[in-house]
Amino acid sequence: FGWWEHVSPAPKDPITGVTEAFLADTNPNKINLGVGAYRDDEGKPVVLQCVRNAEAKIAACEFLESNAAAVGSKLVEESVKLAYGTHAHVVKERRVTGLQALSGTGACRLFAELQRRFYPGSPIYLPNPTWSNHHNIWRDAQVPERGFRYYNPITKGLDFAALMDDVKNAPDGSFFLFHPCAHNPTGVDPTEEQWREISYQFKVKNHFPFFDMAYQGVASGDLDMDAQAIRIFLEDGHLIGCAQSFTKNMGLYEHRVGCLSVLCADVKQAVAVKSQLQQIARSMYSNPPVHGILLVSTILNDPQTKALWVKEVKVMANRIQLMRATLRERLEELGSPLDWEHITNQVGMFCFSGLTPDQVDRLVREFHIYMTRDGRISIAGVTTSNVSYLASAIHEVTK
Ligand code: PMP
Repeated sequence: FGWWEHVSPAPKDPITGVTEAFLADTNPNKINLGVGAYRDDEGKPVVLQCVRNAEAKIAACEFLESNAAAVGSKLVEESVKLAYGTHAHVVKERRVTGLQALSGTGACRLFAELQRRFYPGSPIYLPNPTWSNHHNIWRDAQVPERGFRYYNPITKGLDFAALMDDVKNAPDGSFFLFHPCAHNPTGVDPTEEQWREISYQFKVKNHFPFFDMAYQGVASGDLDMDAQAIRIFLEDGHLIGCAQSFTKNMGLYEHRVGCLSVLCADVKQAVAVKSQLQQIARSMYSNPPVHGILLVSTILNDPQTKALWVKEVKVMANRIQLMRATLRERLEELGSPLDWEHITNQVGMFCFSGLTPDQVDRLVREFHIYMTRDGRISIAGVTTSNVSYLASAIHEVTK
């Protein structure tokens, strides 16, 4: 008898499984469209030049032990400007509080914990579908989960009427999670007008919006445009929560840099919430590693480096948009009778292709093309040299 005899292996993460199968495949034409990590047009991971510049700057500084808290505060200050707007009055009024977090995942986890402590039993409403880890994060924080309708598989777009129904039918004062841009996995975002309607209804229902912003800049190439949902809710006077990740838009994957912010009614509440967040983080991991935080705050705090970053985000977004357009064009050139408009209507890293699990299995078996069985394509894995092969494979399995 061993201590862990009653422990059976946890189910594999669907994305890890895809990566493992891809790595084991020896076919030279293989393509990995599973993992949502940005790649350049040669399929290579990218270290942004702004990050290299920040590295050089940091290397030249002596890091003082006592600086950790100050470095964190600087990161929060800069991140919040990015999400809420450089001149947001709520920032000037010091009503937005926040904490540096272990990237987007850690920011969500901190918020889920805050929610459970101060609104015990109150559920989180998650869009259906959503990033699979949202379920795990709120489950592990022991917050009950509810879903709200989001995606319409027929139009491969937003089911706005159903979304609004679910918003209206939820009990007043419910917590809802939104992806403010580049929804994962669908690539489907509400329009500006639809966000305004959602915001209006949130006022009526007194719901709390929590924005999980993992892709600011990656959808449109414009950081402010991608934050438009948040700005609309601010204009309407909502109190909000926001998780920010620098994983994708700065290419900082394993550095794990993010920020959780909470907009409060006044400074007193903001101070109290901050101290609670600090206490939550303290027992989980004390402080996050400081190097990545220094990188991000260096980039955001230096006008030249920030301008370079803004340009580099645009390059990533443009490449993704170009690959979407090319993939659609190739499918149409092949004479596919199906409608592929959703490839270019959807935005961000992911395309919810509408391929069935059987079609995905055929892509793997016959063409060595890997993606999750829900048909989600990571456009970041599509390149000028593999897009034609990908299009003909998709055409073949959807005939
Ligand atoms: N939220 C969403 C919607 C995501 O897609 C991701 C990344 N896959 C994250 C949060 C978290 O990523 P990270 O922890 O790397 O910032």
